[in-house]
Amino acid sequence: MRKQWLWAALGVAGVAGGVGYVKRDAIAMNLIQRGADAAMTRNVMAGLSADQLHVGFCGTGSPLPSRERAAACTVVIAGGKLFVFDMGGGSGNNLSLMGMPLDKIVGVWLTHLHSDHFEGLGPFTLQRWAGSSAKTPLQVFGPEGVMEITEGLNAVYRIDSTYRIAHHGEAVVPQSGFGMTGAAVSPGVVYDTDGIKITAFAVDHDPIKPALGYRVDWNGKSVTISGDTAFTPALAAAAKDSDLFVSELLSQRMVKILENTSRKVGHPNRAKIFSDIQNYHISPEQAADVAKAANVGMLAFTHIVPSVPKPLEFALTGDAASRYSGPIKIMHDGDVISISGTGKFTTKNLLN
Ligand SMILES: [Zn+2]
Ligand SMILES: [Zn+2]
Repeated sequence: MRKQWLWAALGVAGVAGGVGYVKRDAIAMNLIQRGADAAMTRNVMAGLSADQLHVGFCGTGSPLPSRERAAACTVVIAGGKLFVFDMGGGSGNNLSLMGMPLDKIVGVWLTHLHSDHFEGLGPFTLQRWAGSSAKTPLQVFGPEGVMEITEGLNAVYRIDSTYRIAHHGEAVVPQSGFGMTGAAVSPGVVYDTDGIKITAFAVDHDPIKPALGYRVDWNGKSVTISGDTAFTPALAAAAKDSDLFVSELLSQRMVKILENTSRKVGHPNRAKIFSDIQNYHISPEQAADVAKAANVGMLAFTHIVPSVPKPLEFALTGDAASRYSGPIKIMHDGDVISISGTGKFTTKNLLN
């Protein structure tokens, strides 16, 4: 009797499978319609409490190629507005895939002019323009030299822009919204509107001068972003009593492996680069010292060098936990940390 049931069940499953196979195209199209509905009605901001300060990670990588990590990008969400810090390669795509409202972006502040911090600007500017019918160019701020980059990228994308307008018309892609405008900033308050204050401070990324970090204060909450820097007392001074310190990370012991391996297999040039980069980036232990000295509520690592498989990531932070007793986290693309100012932090990932 039991055997008959089994055969009957297998028969039903077989017929269902057969029908499913014959109708697979209709099923696929149905799933795609549902996906489109979900993607186009997604409202990420509704899930981000209006009285919290949110810090999103649109790129957590570095110049070293990584399939998992786009290059440097952090987005701060305060009072319904978005402030982007650096836009490395691939990070603009992440901002879109995270569901960030592109029309709410006030501007992009570059920490310095290393290419892994601005290479995403070109493609992102096009996405923002076409995706939100922007009427004004994207504002890009950064250290002296930033206008050379914005003007250069505008020239690179000019021909493409004429095609976009010809395809879709001025109402969809207004000429006035094409490209970006650049403006140089120096240490001090660089934005102060509606209670949102952004302060730039000089860091040590020698020979790059100036290289900046940024601190954002809003509604009694704050985040300090290190940019790329070697250890400098300026970090703790700038980050003093911040809720969150976002620091770059370079694992010297892992980079030493890359240096030694490069030399061993006959790539002295690469070995030299892996040796050099250890001098102008901060170690996890030094970042922990900054977090402790500044009395911050949490330490989040980004700009991860090198990117390693997830199960091995615990080794990236070295001895940091013995030098700073607060929470320490290695961030991933799509993560968002929400700060309520109570010393508690919640994290979710908008790419999963
Ligand atoms: Zn960098
Ligand atoms: Zn750099």
